[in-house]
Amino acid sequence: MAKKKDEELAIEAEKLKAELEQLKETKKKLDEKTKTKKTAKKEPKKPKKEAKKEETKTKKTAKKEPKKSKKEAKKEETKTKKTAKKEEKKVKLTKKQERELAAKKEAEEQRTLEEELEEQLTDAEIENFQIEKVDMEKLTNRVCEMLAKYESNGMFQSELWKKLKLSSRDGSRLALKLERTGIINREKLLEKGRWTYKLILKKTPISTQSIENAPCLICPVEQKCSLDGEISPRTCQWIDEWVTADLKKPKVSQ
Ligand code: SF4
Repeated sequence: MAKKKDEELAIEAEKLKAELEQLKETKKKLDEKTKTKKTAKKEPKKPKKEAKKEETKTKKTAKKEPKKSKKEAKKEETKTKKTAKKEEKKVKLTKKQERELAAKKEAEEQRTLEEELEEQLTDAEIENFQIEKVDMEKLTNRVCEMLAKYESNGMFQSELWKKLKLSSRDGSRLALKLERTGIINREKLLEKGRWTYKLILKKTPISTQSIENAPCLICPVEQKCSLDGEISPRTCQWIDEWVTADLKKPKVSQ
């Protein structure tokens, strides 16, 4: 009896086992189906997202594009402005250069022979100027005598050179020398459309020749001689003779 019960129980267990197996199989199938559905549902979602993404990207790019164009336009505008300014500057520079050239030309035209000589000659060449076979000391004294008559009004140098029979070049070099040695002043003036100089005597040079052979140098009574004394240059015969002899000498020998 017990054996029969055991057998029945075993059969029952087998049945349950089989049912369980079947249930498992069914569940598995169901799971498979659900998974497939989910995957199927997910699949179309992905392209949507991607499409959305793509759309956003396109929009952004579309938005960016005009911005970029604006920037480029601005850049182009600035570049054009800069080029225009540069061109303007160039024109201005040319005008400036033109003015400078005109000023230079004018200055060139206003340049005197003396100015050219001053550029060409050294200080030593100016100060040691010597005209061949001419006593420069006597010539200087002669110039001083003539200029002294015009006092502070001065005398046109061309007029002076004419009277002294000097060439313009020699006269100009002499004027430079006399100015450097502090004997005359030169005043630049426009005369009949040409630039020239007026020479004004500044000081009379001390010349040893002016007292050459003066009787006072060897006078035996020089110690007793005075302007208001008994022995005086006012009444001195030797002085009279010396001055008369000096006046008879030719003033400039060339
Ligand atoms: S002025 Fe006549 S006296 Fe007098 S020092 Fe001269 S030379 Fe002599």
